[in-house]
Amino acid sequence: MNRLDPELLQRSFVKLTATFPKRLTSLYMSLRTGHAPLNKYLHCIGETVSPHCPHCQRTEETVHHFLLSCPFYQRERHILINALGRKASSISFLLTDPNATPHLVRYVNASGRLKTIFGEVPLPHKPPD
Ligand SMILES: [Zn+2]
Repeated sequence: MNRLDPELLQRSFVKLTATFPKRLTSLYMSLRTGHAPLNKYLHCIGETVSPHCPHCQRTEETVHHFLLSCPFYQRERHILINALGRKASSISFLLTDPNATPHLVRYVNASGRLKTIFGEVPLPHKPPD
Protein backbone atom coordinates (compact mmCIF):
# COMPACT_ATOMS: atom_id res chain seq x y z
CA MET A 1 0.00 0.00 0.00
CA ASN A 2 1.35 3.46 -0.86
CA ARG A 3 1.49 5.92 1.99
CA LEU A 4 0.42 9.34 0.83
CA ASP A 5 1.77 12.57 2.25
CA PRO A 6 -1.43 14.64 2.45
CA GLU A 7 0.23 18.05 2.35
CA LEU A 8 2.53 17.27 -0.54
CA LEU A 9 -0.34 15.66 -2.36
CA GLN A 10 -2.54 18.71 -1.79
CA ARG A 11 0.04 21.15 -3.15
CA SER A 12 0.91 19.11 -6.21
CA PHE A 13 -2.76 18.43 -6.78
CA VAL A 14 -3.71 22.11 -6.97
CA LYS A 15 -0.84 22.77 -9.36
CA LEU A 16 -1.58 19.72 -11.44
CA THR A 17 -5.27 20.38 -11.93
CA ALA A 18 -4.85 24.10 -12.73
CA THR A 19 -5.16 23.43 -16.48
CA PHE A 20 -7.57 20.53 -16.26
CA PRO A 21 -11.01 20.52 -17.85
CA LYS A 22 -13.65 20.40 -15.12
CA ARG A 23 -14.59 16.78 -15.63
CA LEU A 24 -10.98 15.70 -15.32
CA THR A 25 -10.58 17.63 -12.07
CA SER A 26 -13.70 15.94 -10.68
CA LEU A 27 -12.30 12.56 -11.61
CA TYR A 28 -8.99 13.31 -9.91
CA MET A 29 -10.74 14.71 -6.86
CA SER A 30 -12.84 11.58 -6.50
CA LEU A 31 -9.90 9.22 -6.94
CA ARG A 32 -7.79 11.21 -4.53
CA THR A 33 -10.37 11.36 -1.76
CA GLY A 34 -11.41 7.74 -2.22
CA HIS A 35 -14.89 9.02 -3.07
CA ALA A 36 -14.82 7.66 -6.58
CA PRO A 37 -18.06 6.00 -7.67
CA LEU A 38 -16.67 2.53 -7.00
CA ASN A 39 -18.48 -0.01 -4.87
CA LYS A 40 -16.51 0.48 -1.65
CA TYR A 41 -17.54 4.14 -1.50
CA LEU A 42 -21.00 3.62 -3.02
CA HIS A 43 -21.66 1.04 -0.32
CA CYS A 44 -20.59 3.53 2.37
CA ILE A 45 -23.18 6.03 1.18
CA GLY A 46 -25.85 3.39 0.73
CA GLU A 47 -25.91 3.50 -3.05
CA THR A 48 -25.08 -0.14 -3.57
CA VAL A 49 -25.68 -3.40 -1.72
CA SER A 50 -22.12 -4.70 -1.81
CA PRO A 51 -18.74 -3.01 -1.34
CA HIS A 52 -17.15 -5.71 -3.45
CA CYS A 53 -15.68 -5.38 -6.92
CA PRO A 54 -18.16 -6.52 -9.59
CA HIS A 55 -15.39 -8.69 -11.04
CA CYS A 56 -13.73 -10.05 -7.90
CA GLN A 57 -15.44 -11.96 -5.14
CA ARG A 58 -14.78 -10.81 -1.60
CA THR A 59 -12.50 -7.96 -2.65
CA GLU A 60 -13.60 -4.44 -1.84
CA GLU A 61 -13.67 -2.19 -4.86
CA THR A 62 -11.42 0.62 -3.66
CA VAL A 63 -9.56 3.18 -5.77
CA HIS A 64 -6.43 1.14 -5.11
CA HIS A 65 -8.11 -2.05 -6.33
CA PHE A 66 -9.53 -0.40 -9.42
CA LEU A 67 -6.31 1.32 -10.46
CA LEU A 68 -3.66 -1.13 -9.36
CA SER A 69 -4.88 -4.63 -8.82
CA CYS A 70 -8.21 -5.64 -10.34
CA PRO A 71 -7.41 -8.44 -12.83
CA PHE A 72 -10.40 -7.47 -14.95
CA TYR A 73 -8.52 -4.40 -16.23
CA GLN A 74 -5.25 -6.22 -16.79
CA ARG A 75 -5.06 -5.32 -20.47
CA GLU A 76 -5.67 -1.62 -19.82
CA ARG A 77 -3.18 -1.69 -16.94
CA HIS A 78 -0.59 -3.34 -19.13
CA ILE A 79 -0.74 -0.33 -21.47
CA LEU A 80 -0.38 1.99 -18.47
CA ILE A 81 2.65 0.09 -17.18
CA ASN A 82 4.23 0.03 -20.63
CA ALA A 83 3.97 3.79 -20.76
CA LEU A 84 4.99 4.63 -17.20
CA GLY A 85 7.07 1.70 -16.01
CA ARG A 86 7.19 0.68 -12.36
CA LYS A 87 5.88 4.07 -11.24
CA ALA A 88 2.51 3.01 -12.63
CA SER A 89 2.04 1.04 -9.43
CA SER A 90 2.21 4.18 -7.26
CA ILE A 91 -1.12 5.88 -6.67
CA SER A 92 0.56 9.10 -5.57
CA PHE A 93 2.57 9.15 -8.80
CA LEU A 94 -0.51 8.48 -10.90
CA LEU A 95 -2.50 11.22 -9.20
CA THR A 96 0.15 13.93 -8.91
CA ASP A 97 2.59 13.64 -11.80
CA PRO A 98 1.58 15.48 -14.99
CA ASN A 99 3.38 12.84 -17.06
CA ALA A 100 1.01 10.23 -15.72
CA THR A 101 -2.17 12.17 -16.50
CA PRO A 102 -2.80 11.26 -20.16
CA HIS A 103 -2.09 7.60 -19.41
CA LEU A 104 -4.29 7.53 -16.35
CA VAL A 105 -7.11 9.18 -18.31
CA ARG A 106 -6.72 6.59 -21.05
CA TYR A 107 -6.84 3.82 -18.45
CA VAL A 108 -10.00 5.16 -16.86
CA ASN A 109 -11.68 5.67 -20.24
CA ALA A 110 -10.64 2.25 -21.52
CA SER A 111 -11.87 0.54 -18.35
CA GLY A 112 -15.33 2.00 -18.89
CA ARG A 113 -15.89 1.63 -15.13
CA LEU A 114 -16.56 5.30 -14.35
CA LYS A 115 -18.24 6.12 -17.62
CA THR A 116 -21.76 6.43 -16.22
CA ILE A 117 -20.57 9.22 -13.91
CA PHE A 118 -17.79 10.95 -15.80
CA GLY A 119 -18.48 10.02 -19.42
CA GLU A 120 -15.46 10.08 -21.69
CA VAL A 121 -12.92 11.97 -19.56
CA PRO A 122 -11.11 14.72 -21.51
CA LEU A 123 -7.34 15.15 -21.48
CA PRO A 124 -5.70 18.25 -19.97
CA HIS A 125 -5.72 21.33 -22.23
CA LYS A 126 -1.95 21.55 -22.10
CA PRO A 127 0.64 19.92 -19.89
CA PRO A 128 1.44 22.13 -16.87
CA ASP A 129 5.14 22.96 -16.45
ZN1 LIG B 1 -11.72 -6.48 -9.16
